[in-house]
Amino acid sequence: MKPIDPRGNKSFAVASSKTHTRREVLVSATIGAVFVLHGKPAAADGKKTLTILHTNDIHSNFVGMSPEADYTPFSLNDDKTRGGLARLATLIAARKAAREAQGPVLVLDDGDYSNGTAFGAATRETGSELQLLFRMGFDATTFGNHEFDFGPDGLGTSIAVAARAGRTPPIVVSNIDLSKDDPTLVDLQRLTKEGVIRRHLVIERGGLRFGIFGLLGKEAAIYTSGGAASFPDAIETAREMVTILREKEKVDVVICLSHGGLQAGKDGRFTEGEDVDLAKAVPGIDVVISGHSHTEVHEAIIVNGRTPVVQTGKYGENLGELVMTLDGGKLTVESYRLIPIDDTIAGDHAIANEIDKLKKTVTEVVFAPRGYSIEQPLAMTSQDLPNTFTDIAAGTLLANLVTDAFRKATKADIGLNANGAMRAGLTPGKSGVVTVYDVFAVAPLGAGAVDSTAGSALVTAYLTGQEVKNILEFLLIDNPVHPGETFPRASGMRFRYDLSRPRFDVVTAIELGDFDRGYSAIDITGKDARLYSLTSSLYVGKILVAIPNYTKGKLFLVPKNKEGRPLTSKVEALDDPRHGTPDLLPPPGTMDQSSVAMATGNGPVREIKEWQAVMDYLRALPVKNGSELPTIPVDARAAEVRAIKAG
Ligand SMILES: [Zn+2]
Repeated sequence: MKPIDPRGNKSFAVASSKTHTRREVLVSATIGAVFVLHGKPAAADGKKTLTILHTNDIHSNFVGMSPEADYTPFSLNDDKTRGGLARLATLIAARKAAREAQGPVLVLDDGDYSNGTAFGAATRETGSELQLLFRMGFDATTFGNHEFDFGPDGLGTSIAVAARAGRTPPIVVSNIDLSKDDPTLVDLQRLTKEGVIRRHLVIERGGLRFGIFGLLGKEAAIYTSGGAASFPDAIETAREMVTILREKEKVDVVICLSHGGLQAGKDGRFTEGEDVDLAKAVPGIDVVISGHSHTEVHEAIIVNGRTPVVQTGKYGENLGELVMTLDGGKLTVESYRLIPIDDTIAGDHAIANEIDKLKKTVTEVVFAPRGYSIEQPLAMTSQDLPNTFTDIAAGTLLANLVTDAFRKATKADIGLNANGAMRAGLTPGKSGVVTVYDVFAVAPLGAGAVDSTAGSALVTAYLTGQEVKNILEFLLIDNPVHPGETFPRASGMRFRYDLSRPRFDVVTAIELGDFDRGYSAIDITGKDARLYSLTSSLYVGKILVAIPNYTKGKLFLVPKNKEGRPLTSKVEALDDPRHGTPDLLPPPGTMDQSSVAMATGNGPVREIKEWQAVMDYLRALPVKNGSELPTIPVDARAAEVRAIKAG
């Protein structure tokens, strides 16, 4: 393997699984500082203390949220924003300095580092998530499902940008199969050869040998647009990795970066899920750094009486600090805590400058072509529009706003979304101003169908009343790993549902119309073949077209065009969606263009992006009393309940 050489004269290397064993290792630490550590034989000499600092699911949250306008990392204690990588960098450096006297410190990330904000939208061009992780001193990260949102080729491109700049931490992913002869895998295959992506990693530090491997969980793999890449069984892979790391590499501590997730047990506490099952099934793992489910674990979950499973929540809102001791081969958790990243922490100037520079690129790449810029004020809000998934009533304002925007953009009968596809809420903060950055974070996911720039395209299909019902039935099945996330949200339609009824038959009525015109019922029994147009994001649309597959045919639907012809002939020949979803739709550019909502600007014909629809909608709202910006409505019409629960 070729060591990554980020800074010319200073060599950056990690002990490779193949070539290095006991040699001196140079390890990059905080920005500007390089520590020389002398590898010693594994600890046999009494008690050792080690510290693991960790994050997960940062999702390109480079600045604190929200609102973006309130984030001032250089003026302390005057805003309520959380996160921000300039603050995280300061905190990591401070905690490293504080802990290093006690023993080695590792800094690890658990994946889904990209995609979620305007910065993530430009990741293919900048590879900036990895570059910033590197500059903050991260020792390793792994892949989450969202790393593949632009396909394996998009991911390969972004890593290559960071690797060319010599600024990426090793990416450790053990259960990925990149062996297929496919052009979309070329970059990832090359990066694997170069050792940027690796199955496992050994870091020798402070007289201890740490073995690190990474897994993408089974459920996360369902949501992964891996294309020609596939993800072998996580638990089997873990057993193999533990054997290699223990027997061949003779490591002292085995750490798994597992992007598998946690879920609530019967008592409502998040102490179950794939990352816990993994620790139970593979006792050779000493530490599980968890991610994917965005769970704040305030107390380490201890499995088999010894293995801690820890997770920090999401969006860089916390840094986890796990302290353990190793005594005669026995590892014990000394302490665990989440440190909030908030306005008590002063930002790191170098990181903040880097992020400021990136803003320009983001505007050029993502927003300018559609007439926006990253920090542009869009509207005023007088109250919170949260994106809470479990409180359906509280989330209604935002859901109505977003789905109304879809319907206005395409003039479809129905605008449809799912709770979890709205990735952030809107909040007034100190000024009440909502910017382009804030709104992009509501609808950041996916890419286009014809135009491959960031952000989902809006897509429209024609469906019968029964097929619309089938979509609602599917979305109303709750996924315990992501409670409330699939809950359906609509505009131009309201529906009644009764969860006490049999699965796949909980929807009792669907009506089309709106608050002002009133509603009228449509047939949902299949007797009426009339077609209704339905607009969603391509991101959600990919899941909708796979419903027959997910439900093994119990819920059918065939997305059609206006004339009633099926949109794609590939639908019947779908692969098992567990093996990745991109085959669910034809490759970019080959899709039936009449199904994609198009806008004609001054340039060539192009798609309407999901985020663009929401921004255009906000800009067209009425301006109230003396304000320069439109005001987001929060009245009865705005809060209209469109999902009516029986009982
Ligand atoms: Zn994830």
